[in-house]
Amino acid sequence: MTMISEYGAQAAPAEGRNVWQAMRRGFACRCPACGEGKLFRGFLKVEDACPVCGEEMHHQRADDAPPYFTILVVGHVIGAMMLYVEEVNDALPIWIHAIVWPVLTLAMSLVLLPRFKGALIGLQWANRMHGFATALPARVRLTSKAT
Ligand SMILES: [Zn+2]
Repeated sequence: MTMISEYGAQAAPAEGRNVWQAMRRGFACRCPACGEGKLFRGFLKVEDACPVCGEEMHHQRADDAPPYFTILVVGHVIGAMMLYVEEVNDALPIWIHAIVWPVLTLAMSLVLLPRFKGALIGLQWANRMHGFATALPARVRLTSKAT
């Protein structure tokens, strides 16, 4: 079975892609296809193609979703921790709050942002979203031409 994409190109026959595995690999900042190649060449700059398997990654369109999920998670965790600490020890000096919470917020955000971006790229890859729908698997590109 061949599929015609919205761009008019023929896509590879549908092959099952494990969504959770791809998202886990992306969360680990690894290629969602092979799980070995690095996904990022900088903090958030995505490699054009996997250096190990050659899977093209430039199709990704994570856009604003990674910051959204980062803010959602960090806000809920830090907010809950602030309320809990205030409930347990309301005599804690304000300067401790002024130092601890911003540092924790920044650290959690910097750790989670590339991981959420990787997981979303994995989700897009597994569901063949955006340009991933028409991209042939790396092994097909290397061995034959699409008809
Ligand atoms: Zn790869």
